[in-house]
Amino acid sequence: MSVLSVIGGQWGDEGKGKVVDLLAKKAEVVARYQGGANAGHTVIAEGKEFILHLIPTGILHAHVHCIIGSGVVVDPVALVEEIKLLRDGGIHVGSNLVIGKRTHMIMPYHKVLDTHMEELLGVNRIGTTGRGIGPAYSDKAARLGIRVCDLFDEKVLGERVRVTLSIKKRLLAGISMSDEERRSLEEAHIIKVCSQVREILAPHVRNTDVEILEAITNDKRVVLEGAQGILLDLDMGTYPYVTSSNTGVGGALSGLGMPLRKVGAIVAVMKAYCTRVGQGPFPSELHGAMGERLRSGGGEYGATTGRPRRCGWFDAVAARHAVQVTGADALIVTKIDVLDNLETIRICVGYEMDGKRITIFPAEASILEQCTPVFEESEGWLVPTVGTRRLEDLPSQAREYLKQLERLTGTPIWMVSTGPGRDDTIEIQDPFSAVEMN
Ligand code: GDP
Repeated sequence: MSVLSVIGGQWGDEGKGKVVDLLAKKAEVVARYQGGANAGHTVIAEGKEFILHLIPTGILHAHVHCIIGSGVVVDPVALVEEIKLLRDGGIHVGSNLVIGKRTHMIMPYHKVLDTHMEELLGVNRIGTTGRGIGPAYSDKAARLGIRVCDLFDEKVLGERVRVTLSIKKRLLAGISMSDEERRSLEEAHIIKVCSQVREILAPHVRNTDVEILEAITNDKRVVLEGAQGILLDLDMGTYPYVTSSNTGVGGALSGLGMPLRKVGAIVAVMKAYCTRVGQGPFPSELHGAMGERLRSGGGEYGATTGRPRRCGWFDAVAARHAVQVTGADALIVTKIDVLDNLETIRICVGYEMDGKRITIFPAEASILEQCTPVFEESEGWLVPTVGTRRLEDLPSQAREYLKQLERLTGTPIWMVSTGPGRDDTIEIQDPFSAVEMN
């Protein structure tokens, strides 16, 4: 039972990249199971910064086998570029990277649909990254998707492209498009794109469901690498301001085709405060100077889009919801050092609406928008914690803050991240030992 599921416990960008990178050191397999190239994991390894969008973070460790499972949507052009960038950076990408045959692909027309859908939604737009992820998942559910295995059967590929394009053209009939966008709707262009990536991807394409089962059967240590976070989950997130996949362990099981009983532990990564990108309710959001302090202190700008992230205090109501719907066994708290310079620190412990206290995370985005946060305030520690490696070396106020997060979420903290580097970490409980004790 050496499978560890690492999920985002908030609205994504919790620092999962760094956490998975650390765990990958002790693992043999790292598998991505959902999302697309909208995820942007930033990892600092050997002093170099790598931003990984699609390829599992484990790729930075030569001994790790990396799997892109069927639940991911892969932009094949972006994937080829990412492989090249990693190789240029001195990272080996060969048989250590495999992509599921059943994985759906993002095609150029998905990006066109993404952009124009957002335009049509106007003020109701979701704030997507415009990378075609939502339309690719929509096509998957509508049985109009094109899968990686289709690349290798030209007859099937041609037929599927033709069918899906005929529908897309009708959908976009009244929309004014650039020449480039119009080209994205041409069959010949799509087939050309597919043929350009086919040879490069071919050595990596496998039945990843078989591979993951083999790894588990052989007692390999496996990390299931989540993208985005549970508050962006298609079912349990702040719908409709969510991503188009299941970000929790359910997404891992279906997205990798692996057995439920083999998951040893689930850890939710949460920042010591909250951020959110794009539209949607965010009860503990800070709008003024304090929000700006968190943003600049935490470098809260999107790794994929460069968009400034909205910042706020840690939201314990949302965190409890995340723990409840994912069954998280433990938390990994990141970026505690970003709070170092704050005189006072707040935690959102409940919401109020129309004078009534709400302690359950509302399903309705409209209600969540109207909730006023109830805060508990504590003294900041005002000393640097960056790079701290032992819990006892943290200032007492920071230790108390972490205890409070444990109390409010009813969940133990196994690790604390005190900086972006691999070594800037306090390990309270080694997640793999905990998993193996199960
Ligand atoms: P992910 O998508 O969940 O991996 O998150 P991102 O990569 O978008 O954001 C995490 C950012 O915070 C990256 O730039 C990391 O290098 C950085 N980071 C991770 N952990 C810490 C930490 O404990 N302290 C600080 N200051 N930065 C961190």
